[in-house]
Amino acid sequence: MNPPNNCLRCGVCCFSHLETYVRVTGDDWARLEDAAGRVAHFIHQRAYMKMTGGHCAALELRRTPDNRPEFFCTVYERRPQVCRDLERGSPQCEGERAAKSDRVPA
Ligand code: SF4
Ligand code: SF4
Repeated sequence: MNPPNNCLRCGVCCFSHLETYVRVTGDDWARLEDAAGRVAHFIHQRAYMKMTGGHCAALELRRTPDNRPEFFCTVYERRPQVCRDLERGSPQCEGERAAKSDRVPA
């Protein structure tokens, strides 16, 4: 299963039903700067990205002018390390798409 050319066309790895899906370390929190309070929070003394509607709260679901879905990370330059480590086309990326592609709106 080939990955899409652009993660904007996919977004699958930003979807989860787990409240503790995206860990935010101290370094991540510092990198998020003023966005941290909006998109991250603490659960049992550990920080995580907030989850809303089955996906990370920082993910914005958009439509292109020709009405195709677009999955935009609003904190892309400041995203947590765990998101940076998940490379498009990696086995982890493939696993995400195999497991969760049906959750993503078409
Ligand atoms: S890293 Fe993989 S699963 Fe995540 S958005 Fe990009 S193509 Fe999709
Ligand atoms: S921070 Fe960005 S890349 Fe990471 S899960 Fe949230 S929307 Fe996806």
